[in-house]
Amino acid sequence: MQNSALLKELADCGSPETLLVAIMKHHPDLCAPVDVEAIARNAGIIEFRVSEAEGPTSAMMADIDKTKGVILCAAGLSAQRRRFAIAHQLGHFLIKAQRGDRHCTSRDLGENRRDTPRRKEEMQANRFAAGLLMPKPLFTTFVDGLGKPTVTHLPAIAAAYNVTLETAASRYVDLTQAMCAFVFIKDGIVRHARPSRSFPMLSIRAGEAAPVAVLSANPNDRIAWLPADVRDWVPVSRGVRPPKLTMQIFSKENGFQLVMLFANAAAERRADEEDEKLATQSPKFGR
Ligand SMILES: [Zn+2]
Repeated sequence: MQNSALLKELADCGSPETLLVAIMKHHPDLCAPVDVEAIARNAGIIEFRVSEAEGPTSAMMADIDKTKGVILCAAGLSAQRRRFAIAHQLGHFLIKAQRGDRHCTSRDLGENRRDTPRRKEEMQANRFAAGLLMPKPLFTTFVDGLGKPTVTHLPAIAAAYNVTLETAASRYVDLTQAMCAFVFIKDGIVRHARPSRSFPMLSIRAGEAAPVAVLSANPNDRIAWLPADVRDWVPVSRGVRPPKLTMQIFSKENGFQLVMLFANAAAERRADEEDEKLATQSPKFGR
């Protein structure tokens, strides 16, 4: 049922972040996993339908003023993908500047670029969806409670919030202060990577073979922090000190592997300062 006080407040919100603040204010008891359909109904979605379209697509149809909307999800979506699709379409419905009905592909639901108006709108809907399914205060408290970072936290987060591992990884790297990255691998091929803001640019690309050290790991291995060969993961140039990386590898019987790369931010900062000090202290020749 629509919540008129919430609707009034949402009407004044322009960005995904202000919308999320208003939703959290009206749902103070939100807990994981977030009931995305109940929130969508409160915010003006009157029906959820199964779409006849082929493939993992979702859509949103609304009246011209976007006071009422219908969300469609393709049959066969997993519960986690369906939840994300609903949250994404709710984003399209609530973000005021976005007009008209929507039809989104699975690529749109993974969009994080903003270089065209269409991509920017998809990215905004994704930012809204991640923030709705994994609200920042709940999420950071949950992750802090898990203890020191380890690759197995990701399946725990995905299970608690009822989202895919990819969605959990995107939210994790967005909110963490740590220098870390997750790399998803299937049958020895890199599928995608999610680095945190402070992590160096990755050199490994989707479609490439995973490094040998990962390929040789198997599901029976004990999960532990191992030294990683930095040249496997980030560009290394002459005269620039590469970061010291460690990694954990989580392997499943079906050929899926998840790698967590980690650099100690404080140690990296100290090493950079040391390098700078040495550079300024080195003798000047040719005077
Ligand atoms: Zn979309």
